[in-house]
Amino acid sequence: KPVIGVFALQGNVREHLAMLAQVGVEPRPVRRPSELAEVDGLVLPGGESTTMDKLARAFELFEPLQKRIADGMPTFGTCAGMIMLANEITGGIEGQETLGGLDVTVRRNAFGRQVDSFEADLEFAALNTPYHAVFIRAPWVERVGRDVETLATVTEGPAAGRIVAVRHDRLLATSFHPEMTGDARLHGLFAEIVRGQ
Ligand code: GLN
Repeated sequence: KPVIGVFALQGNVREHLAMLAQVGVEPRPVRRPSELAEVDGLVLPGGESTTMDKLARAFELFEPLQKRIADGMPTFGTCAGMIMLANEITGGIEGQETLGGLDVTVRRNAFGRQVDSFEADLEFAALNTPYHAVFIRAPWVERVGRDVETLATVTEGPAAGRIVAVRHDRLLATSFHPEMTGDARLHGLFAEIVRGQ
């Protein structure tokens, strides 16, 4: 069984571990470099990217994470995790850094204060039926690099057309929280990426 870690210093860790257990991989929390070294893939969960950035540094995980992602470790960033994976962000706080690896520009808290959280059904080409997505102070993708594939956009309302799920090779990222609805299809897709490496 492949081992998939969940960055566990901050964010929705337990929920992701539970979803990973449903798709036939061995889930494991990752808090230290020795634990990172043992995983075949990693989930960067939703939470608060500014705090994740600080804690990753404080626990000396930032550079090991950067290195493993650059070396091709499959990584699934969700919400704050998508921000952490982005090469470039807008709307970050002063001094905020990301791990990078994914050639996109992501806008933090993009949907605005009026719509702190919302839900939407998204069409994914790889899925037979829509995926019900929960967005919480979510980012969106403003620019995708040449090799980055757009997997889903918002289809209705003022944010129609906004990109909320992308993939580049072994990197997967969503603006929303796939760990909150009990629909494990995106964790399943990520497990396939990890198995296929
Ligand atoms: N707004 C948060 C951030 O900037 C992300 C919110 C979330 O992960 N639900 O990190």
